[in-house]
Parts: sequence; C-alpha cells; structure tokens
Amino acid sequence: MRSVFLFLSSNRNLRKFMETSRSAHRFSSRFVAGSTLDEALDACEKVNRDGLMITLDYLGENVTSMDEAAACRDMYMRCIQAIERRGIKGNVSLKLTQFGIDLSEDACRQNVRELVCEAAKNGNFVRVDMESSEYTERTLNLVYDLYAETKSCGAVIQAYLKRSEADIEDLNRRRIRVRLCKGAYLEPPSVAIQDKAAVDRNYVKLAKKLLTDGNYPGLATHDERIIEELLTFVQEQNIPPERFEFQMLYGIRRDLQTRINRAGYRMRLYVPFGEAWYPYFMRRLAERPANVLFIARNLFRS
Ligand SMILES: Cc1cc2nc3c(=O)[nH]c(=O)nc-3n(C[C@H](O)[C@H](O)[C@H](O)COP(=O)(O)OP(=O)(O)OC[C@H]3O[C@@H](n4cnc5c(N)ncnc54)[C@H](O)[C@@H]3O)c2cc1C
Repeated sequence: MRSVFLFLSSNRNLRKFMETSRSAHRFSSRFVAGSTLDEALDACEKVNRDGLMITLDYLGENVTSMDEAAACRDMYMRCIQAIERRGIKGNVSLKLTQFGIDLSEDACRQNVRELVCEAAKNGNFVRVDMESSEYTERTLNLVYDLYAETKSCGAVIQAYLKRSEADIEDLNRRRIRVRLCKGAYLEPPSVAIQDKAAVDRNYVKLAKKLLTDGNYPGLATHDERIIEELLTFVQEQNIPPERFEFQMLYGIRRDLQTRINRAGYRMRLYVPFGEAWYPYFMRRLAERPANVLFIARNLFRS
C-alpha cells in the first residue's frame, strides 16, 4: 500500500490535475496550513500561542525552470522576513529540488545561499530538508559549505538510509545541527533498510548518538514508543531539555504534541503551505493509509 501512494506521488499528470482541482483542495486541508503566506503565518502564530515553535515550508519540489526556482527563492525570502517582522518563534525548511538543483547546481546554491545569509542576519536558521537518495550527497555537501560560511543552516538525516550513521558522525564532528527522521521516499534495498522494525531500531540508535554527541538535534517522529524510549534515555543521561527538541508535522498527533510540550520539552511543528500540496499529501497518506478513511469521512461530512 505504502509503495502505491509513493508511486502515485511522483505522477506528474495526476499531480497537476489534483493541484488545480478546486474540490481536491479540500483533501489537503488536514496537513497544509493554507495556500497563501498570510494564512500560513496566522497558523504559525496560533501554534506559537499554544507554546510550540514552527518551521515553515513553502510547498513545491522538482521545479522545471530557473524562473520557477527564483520565484520559490523570493517566496522564502518573504517568509524569512515575515517571521522576523511578526516575531514568530520559528525558521524555514526548504528542499533543493525546489531551487533548481536538477537544472543548475551553481544557481541552486546561490539561491539557497541568499536565504541562509538573510536568516543569519537575524540570528535565524534554515533547515535543508532531505529528499530521495539521489540527492543525499549533493544536499549534505551544500549544507557543509553553507554552514562553514554562515553557521546558520542544518541538515536532515533519514534513519532508513544505510549511510546515515557515518553521515551523523561527520555532521557531529562539524557541529552541524541535524533533524533526524525515519525517511519518506521509496528507496531500493541497495541503499535503504527495508524492514520497518529495523528502521525504528536504527532511529533510536542514531537519536542517542545525536543526543550525546550532536549539536541541538531535532528528533522528528510521531512514534510514541520511540519518544518514550528517548525520554528515558535523556533522563538517565541528565541531558537538559534545552539541548534538543522534538519535531512533528502540522495536523498529525496534536494530542502527543501538546502532551510532550506540557511535560517540559521543546516541540517544533513543520508547517507547510502553498498550492503545490500533492506530493507532500501523498507521502502523508503513505505513512498511514488509515488517513484515507479519515479524509473520506470529512469529505462526506462537509
Ligand atoms: C518535522 C518533520 C520533518 C520531516 N522532514 C523530512 C525530510 O526532510 N525528509 C524525509 O524523508 N522525511 C521527513 N519527514 C517524514 C519522516 O521521514 C516520516 O516519513 C514521518 O515522520 C513518519 O514517520 P514517524 O517517525 O512519525 O513514524 P511512523 O512509524 O511512520 O509512525 C508512527 C506513528 O505516528 C503516527 N503517524 C505517522 N505518520 C502519520 C501520518 N501521516 N498521519 C497520521 N499519523 C501518523 C501514527 O500514530 C503512527 O503509528 C519529516 C517528519 C517530521 C515530523
């Protein structure tokens, strides 16, 4: 089932049809904070009022021209400036395929560099999301270079990739902030662990490495069992709550988000907005096919 959703997520025609259909928009509203920046910023302020931080994501990936990439850069520039102006507790997360990495790596780097420099001016931060494994090496290299120059960006590591332990050791040595997630793409056995229980075990192992040797890791998961295990670990190791944060996706496990935050731990929500919601939405369905029923019920209700 998971692979069907992930396969559908890469179908360009279906994507175009869904994103331009007015009625299909209703599907995405559970996971997406709005189609405009203003709607998203209002949602971020509400999240902040509830005591949680945010990272804002302008939806879009795999652009087909450098004009589109420049438009994404301009939107992200507006996001960074609005976060500063409105005093929002948060930063931005972006994907390199949105900045044209497939078309011109140099131009992509230049686009992202402008954003990281803008964030650095206000002491803020840019998280570079991790996409499928064909981008891992290039994404990490870009983060290494921009971090050396600005100290204001961080990386994402996926626990399902076999290379991740070595990458974390490298990132820890460089003191680069890491978000750890399980990984959301369809990957072959040559590069990724296929067994879900083994991915979960690797997640815990890597998270512990980040908690003891890393620089302010972001532990991105909704997996309650893993979170409990990590909380026991931080208590045993006397790791103070300000040395790390948990991260979750907007609209997913709101009960757990609040519970962890009320227990005294930092929580950041990944808040996506924009019109290009289809691939993001399909990855969320792939993680939990029961969401299809949830959405279908809401459609019939509305
Ligand atoms: C803040 C954040 C940033 C991320 N950034 C990236 C990235 O840059 N690159 C990348 O590849 N992946 C990214 N991901 C996605 C991640 O890789 C996983 O696909 C996703 O988080 C689901 O894994 P899980 O750890 O929650 O565990 P799972 O084992 O998938 O789920 C554990 C439990 O969480 C709940 N849950 C999980 N997903 C859903 C859902 N969609 N709907 C409802 N309940 C759900 C369910 O209760 C489930 O039983 C990110 C995730 C988060 C939270």
